[in-house]
Amino acid sequence: MTMNSCCYMCDLPGTTVEHVPPRSIFPESKDVGGQDYRKNLITVLSCPAHNNQKSHDDEFLMVSLAGIIGNNSIGYQHKFTKVDRAIRRSANTLLNKAVTKKQKVTKIRLDNNRFIDVISGTPDVTRLLQCFDRIVRGLHQHHFSQQLKGEVQVLLGYLFYSDPSSKNFTQFVADKVVLELDGKPRFGENQEVFYYQITDPDQYNLFLFRLCFYGGLNIYAAVLPEGVKRPFDLGSELINLGVKTIITLGEKSYEIN
Ligand SMILES: [Zn+2]
Repeated sequence: MTMNSCCYMCDLPGTTVEHVPPRSIFPESKDVGGQDYRKNLITVLSCPAHNNQKSHDDEFLMVSLAGIIGNNSIGYQHKFTKVDRAIRRSANTLLNKAVTKKQKVTKIRLDNNRFIDVISGTPDVTRLLQCFDRIVRGLHQHHFSQQLKGEVQVLLGYLFYSDPSSKNFTQFVADKVVLELDGKPRFGENQEVFYYQITDPDQYNLFLFRLCFYGGLNIYAAVLPEGVKRPFDLGSELINLGVKTIITLGEKSYEIN
């Protein structure tokens, strides 16, 4: 067995095929006026156990992502067709799983192609982070033809954090990633629905993924390959200690804690 015929998550043989990200987040053509947003979807090999585990997360992720802030009209349409059908089928348990506290949704239309949904409520962040961790590992396998052994740290760029510190930190990471990804290619054949970008590795071999769903929903993930020592980063040490910290990036500065 060559290394590339292994499951992307473990060392068992990859006997099944898994879509990364899940196929359910790509609209079916019947729901989007015949348009094909499922061209050459990315797949990786997976063992049956990991594939089965992941399939439970697919609908959860679909409901969590479609129809929220920053989405383009495709994400929005997806929400009102396939996603709502799935929610109705599950008698709302899907939605209740995706957003753990009572939610209120306000829709604002900005222009022909952009909508804002402000969802107040607390999403199931732990489960979302697990889903994105898997997606990043899948994309790594696909991109580098190599299993990712090491740590992944996911930041949900689209969440509204109510405390200013988390908000500033998210903004800082987002701005930093934008700078580092300037001019870098976007991968994926259905970019209105999904694409990803990767930064160059820094001096510690640490690099970042940006995943972009529905034209504006960003997830950032830092990848720390196995065997690489975690860099001592004064900024994050201070943040972890709760010390008020100001990080500057270019002309902007971000106050954290
Ligand atoms: Zn496996």
